[in-house]
Amino acid sequence: MTDKNAIKKSLKVVNIFHNVYTAWVVLAVSLALTIAGYFISSEFAEKRAKDRFEFRVKEISDSIKARMHVYEQVLWGGVALFDSKGFVSRSEFRDYIKTLNIGKHWPGIQGIGFSVPIQPRDKELHIESIRSEGFQDYSIRPEGIRDLYTAIIYLEPFDWRNKRAFGYDMWSNEMRRRAMKRSRDEGVAATSGVITLVQETKNDAQRGFLTYLPVYKKGMPVKTVEERRHAFLGWVYSPFRAGDLMQGILGSENKDYDFEIYDEKVISNSSLLYDSNETMHQEEPDHDPYFNELVDLTLQGRLWQVYIHTKKEYLTSSETFLPKMIAGFGFVVDGLLFYVIMAIYGIQRRAVQIASEMTNELELQQKELLKKNQDLEQFAMIAAHDLKEPLVGSQRYASFLNSEYKEGDVLDKDGIHAIEAIEKNSVRMKNLVLGLMDYAKINCEIIQREDIDMEKIIQELKESLHVEDEGIELDVKKPLPHIQAYPSYIRHIFQNLISNAIKYNQSDQKHIEIGYQENGVGKVFYVKDNGIGIPREHQEVIFNIFSRLHGKSEFGGGSGVGLTITRKMVEKHDGEIWVESHQGQGSTFNFTLGRQA
Ligand code: ADP
Repeated sequence: MTDKNAIKKSLKVVNIFHNVYTAWVVLAVSLALTIAGYFISSEFAEKRAKDRFEFRVKEISDSIKARMHVYEQVLWGGVALFDSKGFVSRSEFRDYIKTLNIGKHWPGIQGIGFSVPIQPRDKELHIESIRSEGFQDYSIRPEGIRDLYTAIIYLEPFDWRNKRAFGYDMWSNEMRRRAMKRSRDEGVAATSGVITLVQETKNDAQRGFLTYLPVYKKGMPVKTVEERRHAFLGWVYSPFRAGDLMQGILGSENKDYDFEIYDEKVISNSSLLYDSNETMHQEEPDHDPYFNELVDLTLQGRLWQVYIHTKKEYLTSSETFLPKMIAGFGFVVDGLLFYVIMAIYGIQRRAVQIASEMTNELELQQKELLKKNQDLEQFAMIAAHDLKEPLVGSQRYASFLNSEYKEGDVLDKDGIHAIEAIEKNSVRMKNLVLGLMDYAKINCEIIQREDIDMEKIIQELKESLHVEDEGIELDVKKPLPHIQAYPSYIRHIFQNLISNAIKYNQSDQKHIEIGYQENGVGKVFYVKDNGIGIPREHQEVIFNIFSRLHGKSEFGGGSGVGLTITRKMVEKHDGEIWVESHQGQGSTFNFTLGRQA
C-alpha cells in the first residue's frame, strides 16, 4: 500500500466522525433533543402547577365544608340548650353564647340568635312582654298585617350591629322564609340564599346568608310535618357575613388564587355570595387564567358553586424559566457541538491537504533520487569500463618494461623501482575498477532465483581458491542445504568472505569453518576464521565502500569494495549481514537470505 492510500484509509475512519454530514446530523439530533427537553420540562412544570392548583381547590372546598359543618354543630348546641331546658331565658341564652366566645373562636358568625313564630292574635301581647323586659322601643319590623309573624327575640352578642335586627320578622322576607319553612317542616338545618343582613350599614356592606335550626317543644312528637308544625317553638339561627366568614376560613392571604362563591346553579351577580377580588370574572376584560375550576358544594341542603381561578402571576419562576433555560442552554451547547465538529473537520482537511502535498513532494524527490542513482551507476559502469582498457594496457606495458629491461644497463635502480610501482598501482587500479563495475552492475542486472546446492558451490570455490594447496583447513559443516537464490551472487558472497578469511589471517594454521543454523526467522549462514579479528568499533564501518582497516601494502592490499558488494548482494535477497569478532580471536561473518531462499 502506498503512503497516499494509507493516509486515505485512516482518514476514512476519522472522517466518519468528523465530516459535514455528521456535523449536520449531530446538530439535528441535538436540536431535537433540546426541543424535546423543552417540551418535557414545560409539561413537567405545567403538571406541577396543575397539581398544586388541584390541591388548593380541594383544600378551599374542604375548608369551607368543614367550617360550615362545625358552625352547624355550634347551632345544634343552641337547639340542645332549648331541648334540655324547655324554656331559655334571655340571660341564660346570653351566658351560653358568651361561653362560646364566637368573636374569638368562630370568625364570620355575626351572632347566634333565637326567633319565634307569632300568631297575629298574639302579636300585641308579645310586644308588651318584650317591652316589659326594658326594651321600650321594641316592635316587630317591618310593619304591616301578615298571616304569621316571627321576631328575633335573642341575638348575641347584643352589640350595635345585632341590635339593628332585634324584633325583625325574617318570615316577611321570601329568601329567609323559604329556609325557615324548610327547617321547621323537615326538622333540619337549612341555609338561605344570598341576602343582605339587616345588620348591614352602608359602610363595608357585605352579602350574607342565614342558617336556621328548628326548636320543638320538649316531649312533643315531631315525626310528621303536621306534628313538627304543632310542636314548633322557634329557630336557633346564625346570620353570616360572607366576607368575614371566608376570611375567617381561608385568611386574607391568597397570593395565587381568586375565588367566587355562587348560590345555587346560577353564575350571576345576584347569586354571587362572595368574591375574593371583588370583580366577577365575567366582568374582567382579559380573564384568561392559567387554571380554573367550578366546584359544587352542598351545605345544609343548599347548593353552592365555588369558582376558583389562578391569578396572573401563578407560575413560580422555576416553572416559567426552567424550560426556557433548558432550551437556551441546549441551543448554545448544540451550536458549540456543531462548531467543534466543523472546526475539527476543517483542521483535518487542511492536515490531509498538507500530508498529500508532502507525499507528492516526497514521491517526486524519490523518483528524482532514483533517476540520479541510476544515472550515477550508469556513469560508474561506463567510466569503469573505459578506465579498464587503458589500465590493462598500462599494466601490460609496465610488465613488459620490467621483464625486458630489468636485466642490463638500460634502466638504473630508480627506473626499475618506478616501473615496479607503475605495475603495482595499475594492478590495484584495475582491481578497484573491477570492483566498482561489479558494484554498479548489481542494480542493472536482471537475474532469476535458482535452486542452488550450497555444498557444490563451496566445493567449487575450494578448488578455484586452491585452499588445500595452501594448507588451509576448510571445515564445511555438512549437510548444507539447497536454497532458492541468485547463483552468481551466492558464489560471489562466499568467495569474498573466504578470501578475506584467508587474507586477514596470520596464524600458522589457518582454519575456516562454513556452516548454517536455523533460527526463528530462517537460515543463518556463517564463515568463521581464526584470523586477526576486527575491533568492535569497526564492525559496522567495514561494510561501507572504500573502508579498509589497514595500509595499502598490508595483507596484500585491497580495494575496500568487497564487503560493500557482498552486503548489497545479501540485501538483494532481502537478507542481512553482520560480523561477530574480537580482535586477535578471529571473526564470524553471518548472513541471512530472506524468506524466499
Ligand atoms: P578489502 O579486503 O579489499 O580491503 P573488504 O571490503 O573486503 O575490502 O574488507 C574491508 C576491510 O575489512 C578490510 O580492509 C579488512 O580490514 C577488514 N576485514 C574484512 N574481512 C576480514 C576478516 N575476515 N578478518 C579481519 N578483517 C577483515
